[in-house]
Amino acid sequence: MTIQLSEIFYSVQGEGTWTGTPAVFVRLAGCNLACDFCDTDYALKFVAGIDDVVARVRAEGGACPLVILTGGEPLAQSATPALIDALRADGRRVHIETNGTLDVALPEDVWLTVSPKERLHPAMAARANEVKLIVDGRVPDEWCACFSPATPVFLQPEGNKPANVGLALDAAKREPARYRLSLQTHKFIGIR
Ligand code: SF4
Repeated sequence: MTIQLSEIFYSVQGEGTWTGTPAVFVRLAGCNLACDFCDTDYALKFVAGIDDVVARVRAEGGACPLVILTGGEPLAQSATPALIDALRADGRRVHIETNGTLDVALPEDVWLTVSPKERLHPAMAARANEVKLIVDGRVPDEWCACFSPATPVFLQPEGNKPANVGLALDAAKREPARYRLSLQTHKFIGIR
């Protein structure tokens, strides 16, 4: 069983609940959506067996307990559940960043960040541990009704642009029980 990959690197989570937490990022290649605003390079760069990915995570991050599967869309590959199991068996905590379109059963201890774009699957909305909404000229608050009120919603200004930061900040202050501001802190210090 193989995984199609774009990159594996050791850095720090810059967004959301776990901001500041060291993590090994595993960017899976490919996405099932084609958002016109997408600025992520999720092109296929290499293919690796699951054991090779686990070994590479260990080589990059040593004892770092956190691994973040991102993309592209990490749940679009059929081997992803096996990769999750292998990483957990190796003692890692697994977080997943998904667009939430694909209904994939996940172990309870997997943290799920859902950033909806279109075709959000209700099961993934219900499973979300946190929501990330990209603020680009407007706050896409229509998504909030899809999630439990108990699920934290992070407003993330696109490109950290001042106008988008202002919109997100205003919305968070207006609805403090609903929103949190999430800046892409890794970009402030010039890391991935
Ligand atoms: S879902 Fe995310 S990774 Fe996929 S095309 Fe849209 S913005 Fe890009």
